[in-house]
Amino acid sequence: MKKAFFTLSVLLIMAACQFPGRGPQMITIRGVVFGTYYSIIYYDEEARVLQEEIDSIFQDFNSSMSFYDPQSILSQVNRNDPVLVDEYFKAVFNRSKEISRETDGAFDATVFPLVNAWGFGVDQRASMTEEIVDSLMQFVGFEKIDLVDGRIVKYDERVQLDFNAIAKGYAADVIGHYLESIGVTAYMVEIGGDLIARGSKPDGSKWRIGLEIPAKDHDAQQEWHYFVEVYNQGLATSGDYRRYIKDDGKRYSHTIDPQTGYPVTHNLMSASVFAGDAMSADAYATAFMVMGLDKSIAFVEARDDLEAYFIFSDDSNGYGYYASSGLQLLSRDDL
Ligand code: AMP
Ligand code: MG
Repeated sequence: MKKAFFTLSVLLIMAACQFPGRGPQMITIRGVVFGTYYSIIYYDEEARVLQEEIDSIFQDFNSSMSFYDPQSILSQVNRNDPVLVDEYFKAVFNRSKEISRETDGAFDATVFPLVNAWGFGVDQRASMTEEIVDSLMQFVGFEKIDLVDGRIVKYDERVQLDFNAIAKGYAADVIGHYLESIGVTAYMVEIGGDLIARGSKPDGSKWRIGLEIPAKDHDAQQEWHYFVEVYNQGLATSGDYRRYIKDDGKRYSHTIDPQTGYPVTHNLMSASVFAGDAMSADAYATAFMVMGLDKSIAFVEARDDLEAYFIFSDDSNGYGYYASSGLQLLSRDDL
């Protein structure tokens, strides 16, 4: 899967302490996957270290959805090879389509030809013109593709998929389901800043995540100030706060607005989304980067199942933030 060069580091994962003596042991597994870092923390009575099982799940994900692996199901679909898709692909495709509909196409996994042309896919950035954008836009749109009996049906064979904006979250969910299937009830699985946390630690405390309060200006040091407890929730962050490509003095986001075909340019710098699972959080976070601050606030406030934390740039070269009304922010003094 694509390297997450441009994801931001709004989140700080609170390191838990080893639980001394008998009882569940805290196991931590860290590594690199999908071009980013992951960490998995769980409590287990039997102190099982599940590295091999986790590696095998990651391998299955790459075989299903990596656009760097020419043999992956996704690559075959994008080349129009006849292929039966697997369960991971189905789950991600179906949820992508739902969230695309809910967000009026702000999230759209058929955006790949644009992502690629703008230099965030497998190819070097083309020198983009209005004509190129318009020609690529002809085959972007979820209505141009379906999943029927385990096979992708395209109504325009130039349609290509990109699951980078949702697959990391889903991989975290799948590892969580695996841990539950073998009796682990308290865990946090985080991949490149997108995570799922379930259950409470043996001392009864919940998983805590730090949210950055944005610095006053672009070069100022990062500050960690607010914390949130994540209980049976997914959390994902999208954005280019502090990280982006600059070319000809212009700033290019890796999020593409599927309605215009251009990288987004508004003042929303990052969107952190809390949802029932990490896959949904991941997709909504990307959608919000397309929708911008005002629309995203309205969307989140109208939904009981979503909370969000937004960082935006203001007119004075500084940053501001917005926490949705259901989000319980804790300060250091509350901990
Ligand atoms: P994320 O970091 O989860 O926001 O995912 C960003 C990645 O999703 C980009 O690098 C692209 O590969 C892809 N992408 C860009 N724009 C969109 C969009 N509007 N809908 C879905 N995927 C997108
Ligand atoms: Mg995403």
